[in-house]
Amino acid sequence: MLSNTAMSIIDKCSIFRQKCVLCAATDATNGLCAPCRRSLPRLPDEQCPRCAEPVAGGALCGHCQRSLPAFDALHVPYIFGYPLSGLIHAFKYGKRLQLAGALGGLLSEFAACQALKYDYVIPVPLAKERLAERGFNQSHELARAIAVTMRSPFSAQLCWRKCNTLPQASLGRAERLKNVRHAFGVKRRCDGLSIAIVDDVATSGATLSALAETLKKQGAKRVDAWVLARAFSPKT
Ligand SMILES: [Zn+2]
Ligand SMILES: [Zn+2]
Repeated sequence: MLSNTAMSIIDKCSIFRQKCVLCAATDATNGLCAPCRRSLPRLPDEQCPRCAEPVAGGALCGHCQRSLPAFDALHVPYIFGYPLSGLIHAFKYGKRLQLAGALGGLLSEFAACQALKYDYVIPVPLAKERLAERGFNQSHELARAIAVTMRSPFSAQLCWRKCNTLPQASLGRAERLKNVRHAFGVKRRCDGLSIAIVDDVATSGATLSALAETLKKQGAKRVDAWVLARAFSPKT
């Protein structure tokens, strides 16, 4: 039997107990307790097989019927809504890097259910200026986490972002596509490779589609996008 003093030391020790990043409960796994995890807004199961837009019956959505994105599938577990949106925001702009574990854990749990493997798992790169301003690439940790889960090689070096494009949030769907169309570069040929590209949030999917298109021009056979949350823009 451990003494009360020893027990109270263990109770306070973060190795034994992890605090929930949302409610500070002390029985968290990967930084989130079970009730908070259940409160995260899940995407409905019936969704477009290509871009994950919620569609009754799981048919191809209107946007994809008009123009297919260059990625083959978008894998995304959550809707970009409360309280997940707050966590992603705090991670990205508040530089709360300790949230990387919780957010990476959420995407990893989802990846573990799909049993997919890739030749490369890569983060959507940030332009040099944006990286300098933010200090880190929020997609990097997410990509690394799922690469481990999927037992697939991680690479942050394969692609780069050429120019600092306008923030996508200020643009409508058509402008978003134009804005990022030629934003990415790939360092070498990717003939026959299957690649997972990873980001924190997708709205129209224009950024992911532009990167997928660039990789396919370099010979990639399959490009899947993996994101933590799907946002729905009022501008369509
Ligand atoms: Zn909690
Ligand atoms: Zn679609």
